[in-house]
Amino acid sequence: MFKRILIANRGEIALRVLRACREMEIETVAVYSTADAEALHVQLATQSVCIGPPKAADSYLNQSALLTVARATGCDAVHPGYGFLSENADFADACAEAGSKFIGPSGSAIRKAGSKAAACALMKAAGVPTVPGSNGPVADADAALKIAAEVGYPVLLKASAGGGGRGIRKVNSPEELPAAFHEASAEAVACFGDGTMYLEKFVQNPRHIEFQILADSQGHTIHLFDRDCSVQRRNQKLIEEAPARCLTPELRQEMGAAAVRAAQAVGYENAGTVEFLLAEDNQFYFCEMNTRVQVEHGVTEMVTGIDIVRQQIRIAAGLPLGMKQEDVKLSGHAIECRVNAEDPEANFRPCPGTASFVYFPGGTGVRIDSGLYSGYILPPYYDSLVAKVLVHAPTRLEAIRRMRRALEELTIEGFPTNAGLSHLILYHPDYVRGVCTTAFLENHLQELVDWDRRAAESEAAK
Ligand code: ADP
Ligand code: ADP
Ligand code: MG
Repeated sequence: MFKRILIANRGEIALRVLRACREMEIETVAVYSTADAEALHVQLATQSVCIGPPKAADSYLNQSALLTVARATGCDAVHPGYGFLSENADFADACAEAGSKFIGPSGSAIRKAGSKAAACALMKAAGVPTVPGSNGPVADADAALKIAAEVGYPVLLKASAGGGGRGIRKVNSPEELPAAFHEASAEAVACFGDGTMYLEKFVQNPRHIEFQILADSQGHTIHLFDRDCSVQRRNQKLIEEAPARCLTPELRQEMGAAAVRAAQAVGYENAGTVEFLLAEDNQFYFCEMNTRVQVEHGVTEMVTGIDIVRQQIRIAAGLPLGMKQEDVKLSGHAIECRVNAEDPEANFRPCPGTASFVYFPGGTGVRIDSGLYSGYILPPYYDSLVAKVLVHAPTRLEAIRRMRRALEELTIEGFPTNAGLSHLILYHPDYVRGVCTTAFLENHLQELVDWDRRAAESEAAK
């Protein structure tokens, strides 16, 4: 087993990895930018090293600084978390060359899955259903117009290097396409340094269903079942749950098998996720593969009892999976709400600030993953995710009730968050019935905001 792991990340995921390491009696080296000197991961690690100024490009994305720290502190492995360098194939290769094991798949597997345009073509060849579309990069708006005419409108333009819902545009007609193409491509250049675009038919009212994969270095690949992440704002997940309520046992088995095939098609090792869109007619399509631990991995941990980060570390150390597919059992229902520092009243603009007071809910079946504490100064340079509230209960309805009360207890003062919106969603009849598609939030946002306003008015009138 590894002696010392460099955690090449920050925030709640750095803490998550750190906690797994401590339980496995592995030492940790945290890295931080000057903006994160007071962060929890810096305080809790065995050792912490400042790697540069606040801008991610100069710190958390600075590969040579990270490798220098890994070497100088004698780390035999590097955990990249999610975001930042987690899906950077060159960094995975560079770690290997520097003698530190990258806790994730090989550079080659990341390259195959990470270019989303190329991955679609690969999946199609492996017999995994894909959305009709360009099946590879489209050179320019003219090429996109031709393919869109073939597959029919509406279509979705997607950034091949994309993530976090960025670089995606829905196009309803040929007139809209050229502008949307240039806008999305420019956004992709700004966010990912790569403006390559591809095109898919827009699937109407789909659900986002994904499967958690574990694959060891001995060639065993299994899945840990599914998550439903259909509650999204601007293609970014807000509330996730496991298992997906809408899957029949047959469909679950079929999609799980397709997910395992997808992972095998890229020579996958370590933990990863295969995302699917499930259409209204129950046809499912490959959406993308995330070659890293995901934000919402915790809900799967709760319903399977498997520690995914611990598995990542074991797999990277060359150990075989300690379980077979038939050993993985589902128990109860889990829900996660992402709490972002953003202002629902100003179009969800990120709004960092000082967390003057923080109180986290507790009690049976509640888990909080967060780097927040009272007095913490949230820097403006990074993702707005500040906490993940997770609950586990025997049934879905009990999990919903538990999450409502957990969000009622949650107190974050100093900046606004989206927690109130999530609390409202948990009362929406569509959510309670479990019929939400990815269109749910855009369609009901105004209704939810109006509920909130009316409730506030009647409270004030009392
Ligand atoms: P998940 O698929 O785990 O739900 P998200 O799509 O919400 O993850 O992304 C998690 C984090 O990683 C976000 O901070 C997002 O901005 C970042 N991220 C995801 N993909 C990429 C990428 N290709 N390049 C840079 N950052 C990314
Ligand atoms: P990212 O890398 O940013 O996570 P994805 O390819 O996973 O991007 O897409 C993000 C979300 O966009 C999906 O969860 C889904 O809601 C929506 N989406 C993606 N492709 C399609 C499609 N062809 N039709 C309809 N919605 C889609
Ligand atoms: Mg995705």
